Amino acid sequence: MNAENAASSDKPPLKVLLCSPRGFCAGVVRAIDSVEQALKRYGAPVYVRHEIVHNRYVVESLKAKGAIFVEELDEIPETNAPVIFSAHGVPKSIPEESQRRNFFHLDATCPLVTKVHREAEIHFRRGREIILVGHAGHPEVVGTMGQLPAGAVTLVETEADARVVMPRAPESLAFITQTTLSVDDTSAIVAVLRERFPAIVGPHKEDICYATTNRQEAVKRVAGRCDAMIVVGAPNSSNSQRLREVAERSGCPLALLVQRASEIDWTKLAGIRTLGVTAGASAPEVLVDEVIEAFAERFAVRVEVVTNAEESIAFNLPRELRAAS
Ligand code: SF4
Repeated sequence: MNAENAASSDKPPLKVLLCSPRGFCAGVVRAIDSVEQALKRYGAPVYVRHEIVHNRYVVESLKAKGAIFVEELDEIPETNAPVIFSAHGVPKSIPEESQRRNFFHLDATCPLVTKVHREAEIHFRRGREIILVGHAGHPEVVGTMGQLPAGAVTLVETEADARVVMPRAPESLAFITQTTLSVDDTSAIVAVLRERFPAIVGPHKEDICYATTNRQEAVKRVAGRCDAMIVVGAPNSSNSQRLREVAERSGCPLALLVQRASEIDWTKLAGIRTLGVTAGASAPEVLVDEVIEAFAERFAVRVEVVTNAEESIAFNLPRELRAAS
């Protein structure tokens, strides 16, 4: 990054506190690599159901290489081309439908989402009613609920929901969570559930993944020191939205979610001296660089990296792509 630009300019000084870790997580890297490998192995086109990860820049780059994005399988013609499921996971009905249509499908669901699917199945087999803590309509939630028959999973979105949810069998209850939630909100919701239903079974804490947790912790470390924070990420990216909320709740007066530097509202940032910068798990580093460079055009920028955790997790590609390499 060449944003160290505190030179002799008459620009106002700006300290940038750059959160680490930020940006791509292991699940996102695996999903993008899956599409790229499939394009290399089988040639274009490769169909991808739903945005492979929630980032327009990533999607456009893959489109340029020959990926075709669809929302549903019925948009895909009869084909031998690979059909890839996104990192967020899919309901069971999707691979079933894919098989029925003889598609060659590759599942890029993040292994940490698959782990939640397996937990749901185990609870179900053991006769437990399941509460899923998550956001209605998010593809991960749709995918997780779709692992089991309709009615087996009840969605709880807020603490208020947790206070009123009425399970049919409170003595045989389990909870699971979406992977990209606010750590603090979720532990408050889980606390309510545990208080109301002491026998509830669940993961030790919740199913929020390492990447979500680390990125939120890094934001908490810098939020109180910043006049403003920029979160690079997409509006439909759950973990990016949570980073913006965490920043404001942790004492940052203004937190803005932007997809690209061109979306920055400079009128809101006049007079700032310290800026926090982070990126959601689906936002590529090139966009973080772009944002910092946009600040460096207006301010004499000094970057300080604030590290909360080192990450070394990597996931193998889907089996079919491994075998082919
Ligand atoms: S945010 Fe977490 S669960 Fe989602 S893709 Fe990344 S590692 Fe997997």
